[in-house]
Amino acid sequence: MKREDFVPDKYKHMANMDIPLPIGHGATISQPSFVEQMCNLLQVDSNSKVLDIGTGSGYQAALLAERCKEVVTIERVYELYIEAKERLERLGYSNIKVIYGDGSKGYKKEAPYDGIIVAATTDGITKEWKEQLKEGGRIIYPEYREGHEVLVEGIKKGNDIIKIDHGYVKFVPLIREEENEEYA
Ligand code: SAH
Repeated sequence: MKREDFVPDKYKHMANMDIPLPIGHGATISQPSFVEQMCNLLQVDSNSKVLDIGTGSGYQAALLAERCKEVVTIERVYELYIEAKERLERLGYSNIKVIYGDGSKGYKKEAPYDGIIVAATTDGITKEWKEQLKEGGRIIYPEYREGHEVLVEGIKKGNDIIKIDHGYVKFVPLIREEENEEYA
């Protein structure tokens, strides 16, 4: 898998740098070391079905698709959704379903998931994410904490999510379509 396949032409010469790069519409292709770390923390295997929130370029979805059985990825910006869908098809990924919509509600139609990855920073785990995660499954996401962002590993145990912090990160914000925010 080559990151340059996921980067706009004018940034291709920077594709191998460990930095986020703009992909238009205020989005960025994440920093490769964070993408790798998030995939590793998810602890999924070739039997897993995962939900990837914030498709962006499709890079994270592609990396997940190489490790999992099935990836469902969701993007709220139509142009990015179309671009990523075409790109992933062209690159031959047959186990990725690209969905256009608001990922803050997860994607119920394909639930439950063995793991969920969120590529945009949020105040917490939405109640839909928790509902759609299997028992013992993990959710990996960046969370706002008083002026900075922390990468969090959440493990579902019954009605609770146990949270483990994994250091500082920087992502674009998760955009929520509705004002009434409800967190698990
Ligand atoms: N995983 C992507 C990173 C994209 S940056 C990659 O590997 O390239 C985060 C993405 O989240 C942006 O494309 C942004 O449009 C999208 N996003 C923000 N809020 C969202 C929401 N509520 N639902 C789905 N996607 C969202």
